[in-house]
Amino acid sequence: MSYQVLARKWRPRTFHELVGQEHVQRALVNALDQGRLHHAYLFTGTRGVGKTTLARILAKCLNCTAKGHGDDGITSTPCGECDSCRAIDEGRFVDLIEVDAASRTKVEDTRELLDNVQYAPTQGRYKVYLIDEVHMLSTSSFNALLKTLEEPPPHVKFLLATTDPQKLPATVLSRCLQFTLKNMPPERIVTHLAKVLEAEGIGCEESALWLLGRAADGSMRDAMSLTDQAIAFGQGQVRHADVAAMLGTLDHRHVLALVEALADVDAPRLLAEVAQLAEQGPDFAAVLDDMSAVLHRLAVAQMVPEAVDNGHGDRETILALASRFTAEDVQLYYQIGIQGRGDMAHAPDLRTALEMTLLRMLAFRPQGVPQPAKTPLPLRGAGSGNTPAAPASGAEDSPTDARSAGNPAAASSNQPPSEPGPPDEPAPAEHAVEPGAEAEGMPEPPPPWEEPAGEAVTPPPVDPAPVQAGPAPSAPAGLPSQEHAMPMVAPEPASTPPCATQQGIAPEEDESDTAVLEAPEPAVEVPPVEASIAIEPEPQATAASDALLDHDHWLESFDSLGLGGLTRNLAAHCVVEADDGRRLTLRLDPSQEAMNAEIHVRRVQEALAGIGIARQLVIEAGELPEQVETPRQRADRIAAERHAEAVAALQRDPHVRQLQDTFGARLIESTVKPAEAAPRA
Ligand SMILES: [Zn+2]
Repeated sequence: MSYQVLARKWRPRTFHELVGQEHVQRALVNALDQGRLHHAYLFTGTRGVGKTTLARILAKCLNCTAKGHGDDGITSTPCGECDSCRAIDEGRFVDLIEVDAASRTKVEDTRELLDNVQYAPTQGRYKVYLIDEVHMLSTSSFNALLKTLEEPPPHVKFLLATTDPQKLPATVLSRCLQFTLKNMPPERIVTHLAKVLEAEGIGCEESALWLLGRAADGSMRDAMSLTDQAIAFGQGQVRHADVAAMLGTLDHRHVLALVEALADVDAPRLLAEVAQLAEQGPDFAAVLDDMSAVLHRLAVAQMVPEAVDNGHGDRETILALASRFTAEDVQLYYQIGIQGRGDMAHAPDLRTALEMTLLRMLAFRPQGVPQPAKTPLPLRGAGSGNTPAAPASGAEDSPTDARSAGNPAAASSNQPPSEPGPPDEPAPAEHAVEPGAEAEGMPEPPPPWEEPAGEAVTPPPVDPAPVQAGPAPSAPAGLPSQEHAMPMVAPEPASTPPCATQQGIAPEEDESDTAVLEAPEPAVEVPPVEASIAIEPEPQATAASDALLDHDHWLESFDSLGLGGLTRNLAAHCVVEADDGRRLTLRLDPSQEAMNAEIHVRRVQEALAGIGIARQLVIEAGELPEQVETPRQRADRIAAERHAEAVAALQRDPHVRQLQDTFGARLIESTVKPAEAAPRA
């Protein structure tokens, strides 16, 4: 017996064998069982999803004679044994008239077809006209068809199939019962292929099936054809390497390795991976596309973990990777990836374009590249006074742009690594002396020292020793670094604020100024008066430094943390669980668990250190106690109360009363807004 291709050999012969079209199957089975059959069906869907197969099954249902020859014999479970069933399966049933509209578009063809409609079926119960690619018919053909389609003889059923229902005239659409067949998701294809190959006794690797499932792009027939090809290619085996070579697809593992290097912010490894990829001569544009696809899935994994598909058989890997990125980073990388794809046309070569895009992802990352620059970069108009500061601080190379933009404030606010010990600690305080740095810095987190003193002063100022004992010295350094990552994005050498310029002229003085400032910081009561700006943050910085953080204090100081974006959102859903002075545990509303990423925890920890609560921070999801509020709940409640007050005040207002009495006016409560903005959370 000659070899029969898989797609034909495994073409479903009953509704129950049909994969992935349950919605259509159910509607048709019910219609058949209840004898409520329409005379014209339209099946739409992409190639190879089962339109013709479905039509043939339906033809069998209508003509199977296993349960008798009369109309009672119509069944949703054709036997597959009787003459009619066998004839249909073998394609020689005279009353199933299959027409390929693509090759018979002319009106004469349609007329010829319709001339025969009136004659009774020769062999079966019904004459079934299966018109494939029906959208290819000419307008006059459609017109010729309309009358018959509306009122065909009782023994005729029309089954129309098309990949492009938009091209059908509305007059045709309105005469048919339309079923839209779905594209096959890769999961369904993989499951089906595994079943087929097992039955065929052909060895296969699951990852190879995933490659085939993706390549089939929603079409089961394509998947079967590709599998045929893969079997031939692999000499009777379906192996990953063979299939990848056959399809010319990129090994997905390379893409995951790139994303992993991104997660580790490991630029050398990124380049090494690209170099390794290059040996296989891949399509670099496709690499970037695949990366963007993975980033998309990471974003889905972060927001709606249960919605992550297993499209590459890598669901677990994706979920694990997702927890290593912040949501902002994923969005940013995706954006850069998409733009880099567009820029590829202009790049000198595709590999360069890919490498630049990958490096750009790291360079523009809000935290900047963590590896320190070995050589200091020159400052703009590098005065003799400036130069020593730069190498001393040389913490990160990303902020160098900030320095070259003539912003020594940013440069000097880096933690000087040369002298460990107390003098290092007040780096943030120094930062505060220079509002110029703020002007260029990220606008997002309001710095703690800008907060009204009232909130944070409540806890007694205490001696700052614990501040320095904890992770504080390193923590504040992280905050400024975030802030000068921004000037790198939009360096504005021209618009250097006057303050910064002054700093640039006489940095030495300032250094000493702040040094004077810093030294007495422990003794808040005797600050040097000259730096009036710096006095303000002092009580802030030391406030509550060794008092244990209780929940009330957490609520009070929440706004002064200056958190923004997703980090703020995460923190706003936390209550204080425990604080022993070294380790602070926050309990997170379980509904927000997906947000709980290391980067946010670190930012909260840094922000806490910034207001003098230097702790090792742990955020754990868990049921919240009922009697306490999270900052978000508190803000919501306050907002609701204020709204209620405003509504009540309006209702008491005599003028409003008068309007209501005189004109029957109504107060629409939802539009009432309290005069001042409620505290946000
Ligand atoms: Zn039968």
